[in-house]
Amino acid sequence: MTGDRDLLLYLRDLGFRDVDVTARRPAAVPVETPGSAAGPDPLSADDLAGMGERLADCRRCRLCQGRTHVVFGVGSPRARVVFVGEAPGADEDRLGEPFVGRAGQLLNEMLRAIRLRREDVYIANVLKCRPPGNRDPQDDEAAACLPFLRRQIELIAPRVIVTLGRVAARHLLGTTAPISAYRGRWTAWQGTPVLPTFHPAYLLRSPAAKAQAWADLKEVARRLAE
Ligand code: URA
Repeated sequence: MTGDRDLLLYLRDLGFRDVDVTARRPAAVPVETPGSAAGPDPLSADDLAGMGERLADCRRCRLCQGRTHVVFGVGSPRARVVFVGEAPGADEDRLGEPFVGRAGQLLNEMLRAIRLRREDVYIANVLKCRPPGNRDPQDDEAAACLPFLRRQIELIAPRVIVTLGRVAARHLLGTTAPISAYRGRWTAWQGTPVLPTFHPAYLLRSPAAKAQAWADLKEVARRLAE
């Protein structure tokens, strides 16, 4: 069965979107409710490393059933900028690190353009586990996972947060407006300046929008230099 499922996952990652990998799952992994989560509370960990360890076997929502890795976050615990994406994709799920696929390569280029490296910033997602078929996060999944993103940001205490795309802005900032209404405009999350910009995956599909994303990054660099 596992071999069949691996093949189905492989076909789906090749782009066969209608492959249903859940139908042949051998046994459902029990999902815990937040109150019943086993082990020490990740939110009471003193640092990011401790929090990541406590989340490594998270079963607070259904996404634990299809994931390979919990994709906690990557970068400097003292980063001046935190980038927030949506959720791991296939590459991230396989490798356990956010933004390592094509969108991640573009994000690296965007960082280089403002003289930053991945090691200088912190990168995390609204969801730490890959949704099946890369669908949008469901509200209950985001609600189960968001406390951990919020705590990560609190522990890092960055100068600036950059949200990447509509889903990150929706869940971190609570906006359902079209991204054109708020992209490139400073707002704040718990007193920390936030600049929403486009998701790199969108920029790969719509290269004409790169000029606006570039303007946003220059604005981030300007703010960091203040
Ligand atoms: N897209 C995201 O939003 N996050 C990742 O980690 C990868 C792709």
